Amino acid sequence: MQVRRKPGWLQKKVSPADHAEMDRLLGSLQLNTVCREAACPNISECFRQKQATFLVMGRACTRSCRFCNVSADRPLPLDSGEPARVAEAVRQLALAHVVITSPTRDDLADGGAAHFAATVAAIRRVSPHTAIELLIPDLQGSDGSLQLILASYPDILGHNIETVPRLYAIRAGADYERSLRLLQSAHEFAAAIPVKSGIMLGLGESDDEVLETIAAIRATGCSYLSIGQYLAPSRRHHPVAAFIEPSEFDRYRDAALQLGFAHVESGPYVRSSYHAERYQG
Ligand code: SF4
Repeated sequence: MQVRRKPGWLQKKVSPADHAEMDRLLGSLQLNTVCREAACPNISECFRQKQATFLVMGRACTRSCRFCNVSADRPLPLDSGEPARVAEAVRQLALAHVVITSPTRDDLADGGAAHFAATVAAIRRVSPHTAIELLIPDLQGSDGSLQLILASYPDILGHNIETVPRLYAIRAGADYERSLRLLQSAHEFAAAIPVKSGIMLGLGESDDEVLETIAAIRATGCSYLSIGQYLAPSRRHHPVAAFIEPSEFDRYRDAALQLGFAHVESGPYVRSSYHAERYQG
C-alpha cells in the first residue's frame, strides 16, 4: 500500500532561486546532473554549496528501474567533448571532491568504461587535487570494463546495491549477486581504491533483510556505505512502503560500523553522493 503523507522529518524544501548560478554554469557547459534527473530532494542544499553529481553519457538509461526517475529511452552516441567540460566545471567550482555517475549504458561494448576513464583523466589535468569519486553501473559484470575504470585511479569507486535481494525485480536487468561480485572484484583488483556502496530503505524490506544485505556488502571488502530513505519520484514509480524513523537509520549505521565499514552515512536524506566528501575525512 502506498504511504502518501511524508512524516515531519521529510519536509525539506526545494528553492529554485538558490540554483540560478549552478544552473547557468551547467547550462553553459551542457552538462547533466543526477541531482536534477533523479529529482533529488537535496538539490537546493547541494547546489547552494556548489556541489553536484555529474551525469555523464547522456540522460537516457538502457534499463528502467522502478524506483528511478532517470528516463529509459534510446541513448545518444557518446559526446567526446564531455570529459573536458566536466573538468572545466570542476575547475570553475574549485571542487575538493566530485562525484561522477552515468545511466546504465548496456548499448556500449565497454558499458561506458572508457568514457569514465577519460573523465577522470580530464579532471586530473586541470584540477589534480580534486578527489574523484565514480559511481558506476554494473557493467554487466565485465571485469575488463571494471579494470579499465580502475586503471584511471579514481579516489573512490562506488556501485550501489540499492535494495535487498528479494526486491531485486524492481531493478530491471540487474542481479544482486553480480553487483556484489563487482564490489568484491573492485576491491581485489585495486585494494588501494576504497569501494563504496549504497542502499535505500522503505521499498518493502524487513529489518533482517537490511542487516543481511549490509553484512553481504561488507563481506566484499567494501569500505563505505550510504543508507537513505527511498522516495517515489511519481505515482508511476514503485510506491514507498514505509518511512523509516531517523533512530532506525542510526541503528543501521551503528550495525554497519560494527561490521567494519570505515565510514557510513545513514539518514532519511542520505543519497550515495550526499556529503560525499565526508567519507575520506
Ligand atoms: S545528494 Fe547527490 S544527487 Fe542529491 S543533490 Fe546532492 S549531489 Fe546531487
